[in-house]
Amino acid sequence: MPTISLEGVFKNYGSDSNAVEKLDLTINDGDFMCLLGPSGCGKTTTVRMIAGLENITDGRVTIGDTVVDEPMTQQFVAPEKRDIGLVFQSYALWPHLTVAENVEYGLKLRKMPKAERTSQVEKMTKTLGIGQYRDRYPSQLSGGQQQRVALARMLAVSPKLMLLDEPLSNLDSRLRLEMRAELKRIHEEFKATVVFVTHDQWEAMTLATRVAVMNEGVLQQVGSPMDIYDRPVNRFVASFLGVPPMNFIEMDESTPQRSAAGRFLERRVAQPAQVGSMGIRPEAIAVEAPDLGRAAGDLVFPGRIVSIMPTGGSWTVEVTVGGQRMYATTLQRGHWQTGDEVELVTAADHVHVFDLENNRIEV
Ligand code: ATP
Repeated sequence: MPTISLEGVFKNYGSDSNAVEKLDLTINDGDFMCLLGPSGCGKTTTVRMIAGLENITDGRVTIGDTVVDEPMTQQFVAPEKRDIGLVFQSYALWPHLTVAENVEYGLKLRKMPKAERTSQVEKMTKTLGIGQYRDRYPSQLSGGQQQRVALARMLAVSPKLMLLDEPLSNLDSRLRLEMRAELKRIHEEFKATVVFVTHDQWEAMTLATRVAVMNEGVLQQVGSPMDIYDRPVNRFVASFLGVPPMNFIEMDESTPQRSAAGRFLERRVAQPAQVGSMGIRPEAIAVEAPDLGRAAGDLVFPGRIVSIMPTGGSWTVEVTVGGQRMYATTLQRGHWQTGDEVELVTAADHVHVFDLENNRIEV
């Protein structure tokens, strides 16, 4: 099965900034690679370049042993010759074909015998929960139903390489969850390679074997979901993953939390003057009554509770620490009330440290 490799890839649509810049990314055989990043960061452009729907401006794209796009040598393999299953945000279903005919389309092209086609269409439409719409036309379906038809049509031909651009964006949260589980199962069963575009960090964390985080056309970090979450290479990645987001403590003179943080840095960092900020995830913070005994090395920030918000299975506690807001997530609400004086306590091992350029410093 093919490995996809992008080497030094640039894409410029003709403006003064690049949509994708100097992208080096390898997607291994069997990966479920999520491209994650905010709107406009270049995710869609990247999958479209892999698919061959956009030419690259510079660099090289290889699928398996074949160079599929390299401006320097004028090599370009047309999209339909790349043998890729595609589902994009706009579903591009055939409007004049019914759901069943849309799903069957690729199988006909592959000259699968009629009986096999019929059973495959039945299986796929059932798997994606659209069996009851088999005889409808796309215009008679909701956006979410069309999205599932597009998925069924792609999956019917069992592609070894699938490119999916926000394929679940129009589904409600329950269906989205079901479809995610289904995609994960299909990925494992087909042993396919998947490139999946999303701006939803939760979706990326739950689906991916590896995540590539992008910002403003530039790849920030590639790694397993937990690796990226636990060891973000810079502040952008640290803040993009996690809800509520990581708390940052700026190391400038005006920061009220600075004294506790400063003492911590003196102990743990070789050159404290190089530190620009510290980050602590809300779930790494315990909300405690003031003046309890503390483990040596814990960081303690005294503050006052501003709000306590339920988030289903947990609570988000918002605390002002000398005028700045910090968030802590707890499983139990406890006896806390708005206005209570508390201490936010975190173990030293849970602190992320960033330099003046916002890059990670190991501590
Ligand atoms: P979204 O999540 O909003 O779809 P994205 O991360 O997929 O965003 P892209 O669609 O790849 O981002 O866009 C990257 C940049 O390239 C953006 O600044 C966008 O405006 C620009 N861009 C994308 N397509 C074109 C185009 N056909 N012509 C000109 N500029 C484009």
